[in-house]
This record gives sequence, C-alpha cells and structure tokens, in this order.
Amino acid sequence: MFILILGAPGSGKGTQGKILAERLGLPKITTGDLLRAAMQAQTPLGTEAKKYYDAGKLVPDSVILGMIKDELARPEAKDGAILDGFPRTAAQAELVDKTLAERGQRLNHILLLDVTEEELVRRMRSRAQLEGRSDDTPEAIATRLQVYQRDTAPLIAHYAQRGIVHRVPGTGTVEQITEEIKRIIGR
Ligand code: ADP
Repeated sequence: MFILILGAPGSGKGTQGKILAERLGLPKITTGDLLRAAMQAQTPLGTEAKKYYDAGKLVPDSVILGMIKDELARPEAKDGAILDGFPRTAAQAELVDKTLAERGQRLNHILLLDVTEEELVRRMRSRAQLEGRSDDTPEAIATRLQVYQRDTAPLIAHYAQRGIVHRVPGTGTVEQITEEIKRIIGR
C-alpha cells in the first residue's frame, strides 16, 4: 500500500508518517530527511540543494526527480511505502504516478493534514528554538507557506478527482490524529 501524507510545512507529516510507517511495517520515504542528510554530508547534491532549502524554496525537480526514482526503486518499497514530503510539484506527481503504474501499483490513500496557518507558524517557530533547523527562520517559513500554496496545494485537486484524498484535522493531540488516520485507512 502506498500512502501519501500531504500538508503544509509544520502540519505534522513527519510525526504521523513515522507512526503510520511503524504500524503498517512500511518504509517511510522523506525527501526532506534525504536532503538534510545530503547537506550534512556535503555531497554535490546536498550543496546544490542547500541554496534553495535555506531560503525555504523548493529544490528544483532536476535534483529531486532522480532521488524519488531511486527511492521508489528500493527493494524495501516494492510493495508499499509512506511518502512524506513528496510529490510536491506536478512533475513529481507525474513521476510517482507513472513509476507506480508501470509496476501495476498506485497511490492508495492521500492523507491531507489540515492545520490553520496561524498554528503552522506557531509550530515552526517553536520547533526553530528546539531543533534549530536552518529553514525555520521567519523569512524561510513565510516562503515555505507561499510555495506550498502555489506549487503543492494544486496536487490536492489532481488526486481528489480519483477520490483518494482524505482530509484529516491536524489539530488535537498526536494520538487523536493517529486514531483518525487509523479509522480512515481501516488499519
Ligand atoms: P516542511 O514540510 O516543514 O517544509 P520538509 O522537510 O518536507 O519540511 O522540507 C524542507 C525543505 O526541503 C523544503 O522547503 C524544500 O527546500 C526541500 N524539499 C523537501 N522535499 C522536497 C521536494 N519533494 N521537492 C523539492 N524540495 C523539497
């Protein structure tokens, strides 16, 4: 089963994705984590990505598409995965759809974590103090929210046509949100 967790920055994709992946015994593929690891290791890809990442902009598809392809091709993701942080653009969605279709698979569920913008900003600011992420500066936070609305939110309509989008209220305790997700996907 392939499940995509979609939501604005700060909506809790990583937290819920981790819980879901553990419960279902599926790998979680997180482009943000892959980029952070590449930046940390100062690989050429990481160095290229950092310019965009720190500004809160999307890392170009020319960099990300290959990464997505490699991750979906991993044996662990043969029968399913939790996708966290991608697809985030139309081109990425096209690649995921095509790659899975070639294997006779598809995205089964899209969980859309719904959180007000006010709460998103509050969470990212408090995370900035705890984790010190380089893209949790006020400027980068504002850019990330804008980029989400412009480039990623349109994917909701794309997938809604297939009837696989479930809106999950993203406020409440972590446990309440986990329960709601359990109810939606039936396991
Ligand atoms: P958040 O959802 O809070 O923004 P992520 O870790 O998912 O956190 O993403 C952080 C940053 O990593 C993004 O602002 C962007 O620069 C980069 N990034 C992550 N995933 C992608 C992707 N699929 N396409 C392009 N850039 C990405």
